Amino acid sequence: MASYKAPTRDMDFVLNEIINVGSLTEIEKFADATADIVAGVLDEAAKQIDNTIGVLNESGDAEGAQLNNGEVTVPTGFKEAYKAYAESGWIGLDKDVEFDGQGLPYALATAVTDMLSGANAAFSLYPGLSNGAYEALRAHGSQEQKEKYMSHLSQGDWSGTMCLTEPGAGSDLGQVRTKAEPQDDGSYLIEGNKIFITAGEHDMTDNILHLVLARTPGAPEGIRGISMFIAPKFLINEDGSLGERNAVECASIEEKMGIHGSCTCVLNFNGAKAHLVGELNKGIQNMFVMMNSARLMVGLQGLGVAERATQNAITYAKERKQGRPLTRKAESSFDSDTIIVHPDVRRMLLNMKALTEGCRMMAYDTAKHVDLSEHHPDEAVRASSKARVDLMTPVCKAFTTDAGVEVTSMGIQVYGGHGFITENGMEQNMRDSKIFCLYEGTNGIQAMDLIGRKLSMANGQLPRDFFAEVKAELASASDEVAFIAEPLSVALADLEEVTNWLVESKAANPNDSAASAVDYLQAFGLVSLGYYWLRAAKVSAAKDGVFYQGKLATARFFATKLLPKVHGLVPVILAGGDCVMEPAEELIV
Ligand SMILES: Cc1cc2nc3c(=O)[nH]c(=O)nc-3n(C[C@H](O)[C@H](O)[C@H](O)COP(=O)(O)OP(=O)(O)OC[C@H]3O[C@@H](n4cnc5c(N)ncnc54)[C@H](O)[C@@H]3O)c2cc1C
Repeated sequence: MASYKAPTRDMDFVLNEIINVGSLTEIEKFADATADIVAGVLDEAAKQIDNTIGVLNESGDAEGAQLNNGEVTVPTGFKEAYKAYAESGWIGLDKDVEFDGQGLPYALATAVTDMLSGANAAFSLYPGLSNGAYEALRAHGSQEQKEKYMSHLSQGDWSGTMCLTEPGAGSDLGQVRTKAEPQDDGSYLIEGNKIFITAGEHDMTDNILHLVLARTPGAPEGIRGISMFIAPKFLINEDGSLGERNAVECASIEEKMGIHGSCTCVLNFNGAKAHLVGELNKGIQNMFVMMNSARLMVGLQGLGVAERATQNAITYAKERKQGRPLTRKAESSFDSDTIIVHPDVRRMLLNMKALTEGCRMMAYDTAKHVDLSEHHPDEAVRASSKARVDLMTPVCKAFTTDAGVEVTSMGIQVYGGHGFITENGMEQNMRDSKIFCLYEGTNGIQAMDLIGRKLSMANGQLPRDFFAEVKAELASASDEVAFIAEPLSVALADLEEVTNWLVESKAANPNDSAASAVDYLQAFGLVSLGYYWLRAAKVSAAKDGVFYQGKLATARFFATKLLPKVHGLVPVILAGGDCVMEPAEELIV
């Protein structure tokens, strides 16, 4: 059986020594986020999550969510654990004080989501979707809607959903066909069929708020004619109490590869009463607020499960005895050694650590930029942090979740055949982690977002600013960290070269850049992790102790074995799309 312990030492390192979360206390809103509070949150959240939610990971997977007569029951123990989690204030940690949240930084809430995802990825989706709904209402809801719904979402007695996908509308939301018919009282009636809706129906909260994309009569075709509506499971009376059940029915739940504890629902809206959120026909733009926050959250899910796989693989490699080190004389003893003596096993463990801990630094730093972009008093800081979040969101989502699948696969490999056996818990990690590459925009769509929008926004300022930051970090690197600074400067030069080519080729032949988008995002992610590992190496070189020596060893592995992969990606990216697009469809059989 696999286990999980929230990696609070590493979280503390990233929060305090890499991103300096304490600097946020200079912003009035975050004055309370002192070092003591940060330490207290990490400790208390870890205790509760490890002891009450992590223990349900494997039973939740085996039992799954069940549908009976339109009602979904979550796995045994989820309801009680969710109630305790919500009542402890973890859902409201970063929510606004005026809506019953604690007003702490999103960067700190990011650490809690990281641990929740590692403890139990399926469980993490329930508060996760509520978070997206909260953000969408915060950005686009009317004052009345905010007052009506947001406190419930931050306290967790109500949950949220995101109802976008339909049978004919997946990546292409312009195909949404669900209708919203206006009524005389200003409300709308929603008719349509949504599929794959996470937490669309369940018994954990008193009410569920569905944020739904739909079209009003005569709305323009495509994404310009889509609006966002809110349709609660139970209608809400004037006095705030819950009224009759709305016409939203859970027709079925999906059987799926992983995250079995999370229900994935087919929802039929049969004339469900709803209200417009934000402006008419601006639904896609509004939903983007929710999707960006959800994309960062999905990156954290990939990170959490990767951490879980890494912890178990390291423990196993120190216990499992097979074979002898190549350097040991055969005649000295015929006893086996633990498998951690083997170079290939060490390669996998260090690979897992380098990706997981590197992605943690990238995720938490991006989260800090979310805080700065929203709350820093200086407009210029807000703007530059917003640009950074825009640039890094597809990278955090896609690079981390691809890494999650790679790391969980390596976790199985470290266990050998025992990794393939269900009771050891490693195959669940891999099954759970694949979905993170698919929802909230597939990783292919994230790569298109990076090359299509983010590279060219503000005339290419976003990547230029990031590259300048990496160069500044390189410029102040001492000889002690030359082992990573040198390969990083080579990788950065490679990345700049392919970035320029992509921007130019996009105008000349969009198929060239599109065919290279996923490889480009991979290169971008590796350079980003190189930047964070350089920062980690600088901090660690100045400190003593096993923890910091371990960091230096992992940084060295990353610099030597992973970062040079960027150079190999250069010709792959520059090759463009001819070999992909030239074969006629009949040749791809
Ligand atoms: C478990 C689970 C939970 C989910 N939860 C939710 C939820 O809560 N709410 C919700 O609304 N949806 C949810 N989804 C739906 C999910 O977001 C979609 O499955 C996803 O957006 C992809 O859409 P699709 O499955 O229709 O794939 P398609 O859009 O058909 O894509 C198929 C392939 O084509 C590629 N592709 C498509 N268009 C392009 C393009 N323009 N350029 C390049 N490549 C392209 C994709 O990358 C992919 O590889 C969930 C799905 C699952 C499986």
